[in-house]
Amino acid sequence: MTSVLETTAAVTARAPAKVNLELGVGPLRDDGYHTLSTVYQAVGVHDDVTAAIADEWGVSVRGRDAELVPTDESNLALRAARLLAERAGDVEPVHLTIHKGIPVAGGMAGGSADAAAALIACDALWGSGLGKDELEPLAAQLGADVPFLLHGGTAVGSGRGELISPVLARGTYHWVFVPTDSEGLSTPQVYRTFDELNAAREIDEPRPSPDMMAALRNGDAEALAAVLSNDLQPAAILLQPRIDEIIESAMGFGALAAIVSGSGPTVALLADGQEGAIDLSVALAASRTAEDILRASGPVAGAHVIPAPRLT
Ligand code: ATP
Repeated sequence: MTSVLETTAAVTARAPAKVNLELGVGPLRDDGYHTLSTVYQAVGVHDDVTAAIADEWGVSVRGRDAELVPTDESNLALRAARLLAERAGDVEPVHLTIHKGIPVAGGMAGGSADAAAALIACDALWGSGLGKDELEPLAAQLGADVPFLLHGGTAVGSGRGELISPVLARGTYHWVFVPTDSEGLSTPQVYRTFDELNAAREIDEPRPSPDMMAALRNGDAEALAAVLSNDLQPAAILLQPRIDEIIESAMGFGALAAIVSGSGPTVALLADGQEGAIDLSVALAASRTAEDILRASGPVAGAHVIPAPRLT
């Protein structure tokens, strides 16, 4: 029989990946970050984080790319749990078990998703009761994408991306993601290359585009396809030319649009409905353009408690 202690001694939270529908990069700020104007969408590729009361703090990682994720104090989920513990006061240590479904270092914010899930799981486990609004400042300290992954949906991000306002978005969008080898393409390298490519010109403050807002308001995938944009894309392609080959093939196979996700290297393909997404992924696999293909729709909810951990 399960005791009450066992049923309350662990909580699992699930957090989604993100795709940037628009990523406008502005001037470099004095603190070394760029001003961003981005439109995020949360998509149905998930990581689950189980927080369990333990004798000592720790983290273990299972699932996709698990071997690439650090299990020391640099792990973002563990940092999130420790930050919440400082805020909440007298709490017991936790062991976190991360089940990864989001590609690591793919530009889909997997580490940030784990941080968001850890905040939600630990808040429930410890009964600190902060809720998303009070967790948001902690999320922003952990990383620019973390506040969005707490809330999910579709939202504009400003500042470094951490200042979130929800966007009225109708409909469901169907995506195919092609993760590629991230070697030679870290987020700081992509930004450095962006700076080099733009050294000779004045960079304006970025703003969300009215056409993007209209496409989302109307739930129009074709109109959205026409306005997807990512200022980091030229830098990512320069560092990893294979991205361009995938984009070209996918457009030939009927993708409505193809764009680098965040700082890459994952390529995000907007498909013409669910069937379009299936056809596109079959064509990419059959032509051997890509071996690793993920299909997901968005928008989906942000980090939330789920009933039970995944067993595999
Ligand atoms: P970003 O665009 O925010 O830089 P990303 O989506 O490209 O992120 P992540 O999967 O978040 O990439 O991983 C970036 C790096 O963060 C990894 O190389 C890894 O070393 C480190 N990291 C720390 N904690 C985690 C975690 N819980 N999950 C994944 N990566 C983590």
